[in-house]
Order: sequence, then C-alpha cells, then structure tokens
Amino acid sequence: MKALVFGGDGLLPAEPPPADAPRLVRHLATTPMGQQEVADPAVLDDDWAVLRTRLCGICGSDTKQVLMDFEDAADSPMTAFISFPQVLGHEVVADVVEAGPVAGVEPGQRVVLNPWLSCGPRGIDPPCPACAAGDLAMCWSFTEGRLSPGIHTGNSSDATGGFAELLPAHRQMMIPVPDGVTDEQAVLSDPFAVSLHAITRTPPPEGGRVIVYGAGALGSTATAILQALYPSVQVATVARFPAQRVLAEHLGATVFDPEPREQLLDELAAWSGAILRTPWEGLPIAYPGHVDVVYDTVGSPQTVELGMRILASRGSLVQLGVSSPARFEWTPWYFKELRLIGSNAFGVEEVEGVRKHGIAHHLDLVAAGRIDLTGLLTHRFPLEEWRPAFRTLIDQGETGAIKVAFDLR
Ligand SMILES: [Zn+2]
Ligand SMILES: [Zn+2]
Repeated sequence: MKALVFGGDGLLPAEPPPADAPRLVRHLATTPMGQQEVADPAVLDDDWAVLRTRLCGICGSDTKQVLMDFEDAADSPMTAFISFPQVLGHEVVADVVEAGPVAGVEPGQRVVLNPWLSCGPRGIDPPCPACAAGDLAMCWSFTEGRLSPGIHTGNSSDATGGFAELLPAHRQMMIPVPDGVTDEQAVLSDPFAVSLHAITRTPPPEGGRVIVYGAGALGSTATAILQALYPSVQVATVARFPAQRVLAEHLGATVFDPEPREQLLDELAAWSGAILRTPWEGLPIAYPGHVDVVYDTVGSPQTVELGMRILASRGSLVQLGVSSPARFEWTPWYFKELRLIGSNAFGVEEVEGVRKHGIAHHLDLVAAGRIDLTGLLTHRFPLEEWRPAFRTLIDQGETGAIKVAFDLR
C-alpha cells in the first residue's frame, strides 16, 4: 500500500528550499517523512480489523511533528511513550475491509477511528484503573502488551495511521458512523471529542462567561459545543485569521483579534464588564475579573499570560491540544487563586447525563442536527500532495485553511 512513512529508511531528500524561506517551509523540505510502498497491515489478532482510509484529517500534533515545530523540546517526556518508524494520521473515517472473528464489525461498515492504544488494543485484561474509568488517554499501559510503545494510532510502529491506504484497528477503536452523517462531518470527530472532553471536565457555570482562545479546529469545535450544550453562556472567541473569524461568527461567538494583546485585553475587559488595573510594566490585570473559564487551544506563553490576566478570581484556565513547554508571568495564578487545568484528548464523556465515547457523542449530535461544523473542513488533498497539504497549513492566513484532510476515496 501507499503510505507516508515518518522516520523510516530510504526517504528521498527533497529539493532544498531557498535559504531565505521561512523556518517552517525549510522544515517541510527536510522533514524525515516521505511516500513509500509498504506491506499492507494484517489483522493483528482475532479482535482486530483492517480499515481502508476514506478521509484522514491532519491534526495540529501531526503538523507540529512533520514541520518539526517543537522549540527546545528534546526533554519532552513524551518520547518515552512512542516508537518508530511511524505512519501518522489518527483523525480517520474509514471502511472495514477485513475483520477478525471477534472484531465486532463487518467488512463494508463505515467507522471513525478511536485512536487510543489503551489496555484493550494492547490485549491487557483486566484493564488498568484509568481505562476502567473511561480515561483512555491516561491508560497506564502505553508501553506494554502486544503493541510497540505508542499512545495513539500514528505513534506506535505497530499501529500505523491514516496517512496511508490501510490501517489496523482493534474492536475498541472503531465507532460506527450513522448513515445520515457524511465523511466530511465524521472526520471532525477527533478534534470535536478533544474539545468536548475539555469542556465537560471543566464546564462553564450557568449563565457564565467564557473565552475560547484560538479558532482552528479545536477553537471552532469548542465554540460549537458551548453554543449547542450551554446556551446560557456568553462566548468570546479569539480568532487570528479571516476564515476562522467568519466561522466563529457563524457559530454565534463574539469574535476578537489576538493582536495587539493590550487591545485584546481592553476589548475583553469591556465585553466582560471588568476594570483593568495597570502595573509598572507588562499587561494590565482585570480586577475583579468576570470571565469564568478560558479554554486555551493555543497554549503559548502569550495566551496563558493573557488568559490569567482576564480571568475572574477562582476562574479556570483549561489548556487543550498539544503545546510546547514554556514560561510565562504567573503572578495572577496565586493572586486570583486560579485553577490551571490541563486537558488531554478524550475518552468516555458524560453529556446531558449520558456516558459514551466522545466520538460517539459527536456522531449522534451531528445526526440529530445539533452540531453543524460546515466550513471547518476547508481543504482536501490526495496523499501524493502531502507537501502542498502541509504548505496550505503553513500559509493559513492566505489559504484560509482551518482543517485539512487527505482524501483517499
Ligand atoms: Zn488529533
Ligand atoms: Zn489502560
């Protein structure tokens, strides 16, 4: 099968880019990924299947890895949990082509991948306490069992991903797609579930006020979830690019520009009815603040610092998505008794009293007409055009890219 292999042998070096090209364009030219012909994945065990990719979204984490966009992150502990070579891609909608006798699916069925390589896929029974509680992203067994190390599809050398024609999946890793839901809707399940997890674990108070920082796939899905499930809450979304702004407004948010930050603070203070106090240096602080939760999908020192300045006392700053280590001015953390909450991916989530996988919530809310993310999937490319696909993301200010996917149909 055709696959984009990351970190393997036999990768052809690309044309070197002009030396004055932007940093990420240079990285795209030299990234250790390339298209290769590799052996088809096999049914790994009786409870596994093989899927044929229909659409595979490019996640922010894929982009960071392919474009080598981690600054000074060699000491990130995540390298303890992964193995190479890899075929990336975990935002997958696919058809079952072959199924083991107890895989729980039939050939021809359309599914969304639940990418977590937790106890079930690893053949570990009974499951660890995290898996037993539905916290798949906190599994204790990411380096154990019948698969090579990896936390989700794409970063274990045994569980190759959707940047390829075929991929393996365990019984617990396939969620059927209802007939009325299109591939283009279903491929957004993964970012939707990431945002759903962050919001349901730290929900806004009734009638509260929240900020969604960033308006890419996570910011857009977070805005949509807040509007659909928490209608009494006022939502401000910070959007950098015009296409993101249009989508956030369409989803019902009040939209703000991220730069300059002093102006953003002014506008958010006015929006939330807070008074800004001016220190000797640096950003003003809203005191008392009137924002209950900041859902930060960017996770940079600049966004964390601003989020903490604008929050109400005892407000929550939730960081979702994959970010690099950073430093920031953190005085308001203690002064306002803020809660800084990390949010990692998804698992079994509770929505309106019903507990099921976050991806299943997404598919059912779409089928019921309660979530409409039209406009979020902006670009599709064949696998061969992987460099233009990533280039579209690098240049998202001009291209209007929000979610980009490989289309193998
Ligand atoms: Zn993802
Ligand atoms: Zn586990």
